[in-house]
Amino acid sequence: MTAETGSKILESQAFDNRAIDALPPLKQLVAALDMRARKSLGQNFLFDLNLTRRIAQSAGWLDGTTIEVGPGPGGLTRALLLEGAQKVVAVEKDFRASSVLASLLEAAGDRLQLVEGDALKTPLWEMGDAPRRIVANLPYNIATTLLIQWLGHATAFQTMTLMFQREVAERITAQPGDSAYGRLSILTGWIADSTILFDIPPEAFVPAPKITSSVVQIRPLAEPRFPCDRTALETVTRIAFGQRRKMLRASLKPIGGETLLTEAGIDPQCRPQDLDIEAFCRLARAIS
Ligand code: SAM
Repeated sequence: MTAETGSKILESQAFDNRAIDALPPLKQLVAALDMRARKSLGQNFLFDLNLTRRIAQSAGWLDGTTIEVGPGPGGLTRALLLEGAQKVVAVEKDFRASSVLASLLEAAGDRLQLVEGDALKTPLWEMGDAPRRIVANLPYNIATTLLIQWLGHATAFQTMTLMFQREVAERITAQPGDSAYGRLSILTGWIADSTILFDIPPEAFVPAPKITSSVVQIRPLAEPRFPCDRTALETVTRIAFGQRRKMLRASLKPIGGETLLTEAGIDPQCRPQDLDIEAFCRLARAIS
């Protein structure tokens, strides 16, 4: 064990988690308060504390502020606190969650803050003290919108440990040449390293979704890999991958077509999946 690991363990033990440990099982709380999952809010809950603790552990050392989007009944929130999170700020749109979370809020004291609101309209990058990280079992219906928003403020976060549908996780982490390579791979890879940590089967959730989920770790870089304007990169990737089978000279016509491609030094007959991140940055610079 390194000195660093040793001191981390000592510090995490400084929190007295007995009150959290003594809380009733999540399933019991949810049943008592009748918090039935709502599809419109992307609610698929995790009740198995072993599993949520595994997700919390995979986020690493939880100093500073750990931001959780969508605590729901609090399975992952509990795990983050039990794994030694110094401060958890949890943003939840479903106001029913506050009564299910009441006992956890009391047990955790100052270490847990519940923000009732819409994560899409909440500047997470300004919440709490640095270092900040996001750890979340995301509502799938808005997961990629949230990720793209957070990538616009990537340097505010040390890491993001996020659950997505497996297919989306593959798109985030794909490299040029992979079948899943696309806009999400480029927008993420431009400013961060990302990796799929592990999968979670449908039956782990209540209700069970139809698909497998994956926990992805995203580690923002100090600065983008290649210079270009982020909005221009978002625009050019949206237009190029909007018609992914077409040659770029056709799909990019609305923003300059062949002239633009020549200026960026790209063969107009290429298709978007043939270009690496650096080439997309050249295109973004050419439209800026
Ligand atoms: N963290 C809980 C767990 O693992 O059991 C719940 C995860 S569930 C997949 C997604 C959560 O996000 C739900 O609690 C849902 O109400 C919440 N949610 C959905 N849309 C939201 C939004 N726009 N802002 C904040 N929370 C949202």
